[in-house]
Amino acid sequence: KPIKDYSLADATTTVGELRQQLRRYAQAYYTQDAPLVEDSVYDDQYRQLQELEQAFPQLVTADSPTQQVGGTVLAGFTKVSHQLPMLSMGDVFSLDELASFDSRMQKAIQQTTTYNVELKIDGLAISLRYEAGKLVLGSTRGDGSIGEDVTANLRTVASIPQTLAVPIDLEVRGECYMPKASFEKLNRERDNNGEAVFANPRNAAAGSLRQLNSRVTKERQLDTFIYTIVNADRYGVTTQAEALKQLQEWGFHVNPESMVATDLQQIDDYIQRYQAQRDELPYGIDGVVLKINQLSLQAELGNTVKVPRWEIAYKFPPEEAHTIVRDIEWTV
Ligand code: NAD
Repeated sequence: KPIKDYSLADATTTVGELRQQLRRYAQAYYTQDAPLVEDSVYDDQYRQLQELEQAFPQLVTADSPTQQVGGTVLAGFTKVSHQLPMLSMGDVFSLDELASFDSRMQKAIQQTTTYNVELKIDGLAISLRYEAGKLVLGSTRGDGSIGEDVTANLRTVASIPQTLAVPIDLEVRGECYMPKASFEKLNRERDNNGEAVFANPRNAAAGSLRQLNSRVTKERQLDTFIYTIVNADRYGVTTQAEALKQLQEWGFHVNPESMVATDLQQIDDYIQRYQAQRDELPYGIDGVVLKINQLSLQAELGNTVKVPRWEIAYKFPPEEAHTIVRDIEWTV
């Protein structure tokens, strides 16, 4: 029912139910890498919870799924404390909502700005730390503050440089993903062996990286797109577009499809283009990310407890043919 029809008592009950349900979904998704429902189902209920909490702010609690970065640290991995939190991202589902985001940004910074527009890669966030040019630590996002040390596994990923050409200290962040071809091959093999298949490439990537045996990770043929330089100003970088260029020069895999947009029309065009081309790309994407291009403005806008204020994801509508099936019969 519409939010305006809720009494405080009704809202309290529904908020409790939604939180319980979302926590159950998140547990399966983040801990077992085996979702119980499609993302769109999770997203709808999450949105409902967000709207109720907005209408009844007295119901917001620090442990609500809207106030925490989802994700857990699996037993068996050494914990890594992130120097800067690895956050989640706000999302919108329509161009109108995107326009509202843009108005909010303009109002907050009191100037027009450009956006760096990127594909939202359907994988899991990783952080890579280098000391004097050598890879020393690779970790997952975990709950945003504490992640999992998956250095040995990330060393098996061919696109991650073990040594940089320059002996610098550096932390970069990006997405580790499973290319569609590897995903299909893996699920076919698992099915032949009578093992549970992965619901989607994102869960397959997460399950393959969070492995205690690096040999398994290596066989899974993961890949990466790196998109963030932590403390980029230390390297003379002032915009997100420059950061991507610099990352590429350092030898990281950078997604080639990003662009700088100066107005909403260009962003709409970009969204339409990649929504149409989505199936042809060799990796999964679930939307488009807009980032305020100027890093000094990003710093000024800062973060909420859960998301950076200066970026937003436009999520594509769910793919119809995409359903969760635990037992696929492969026709080979
Ligand atoms: P998110 O995955 O939607 O967005 C944040 C992440 O986007 C970042 O951590 C980063 O890893 C990634 N990303 C990809 N491309 C990027 C780019 N170019 N620049 C910056 N970041 C990029 O947020 P989340 O908090 O990790 O998870 C919420 C998502 O997980 C929702 O989509 C939700 O549907 C899904 N989920 C599903 C279930 C389920 O049961 N199906 C349960 C929990 C969560």
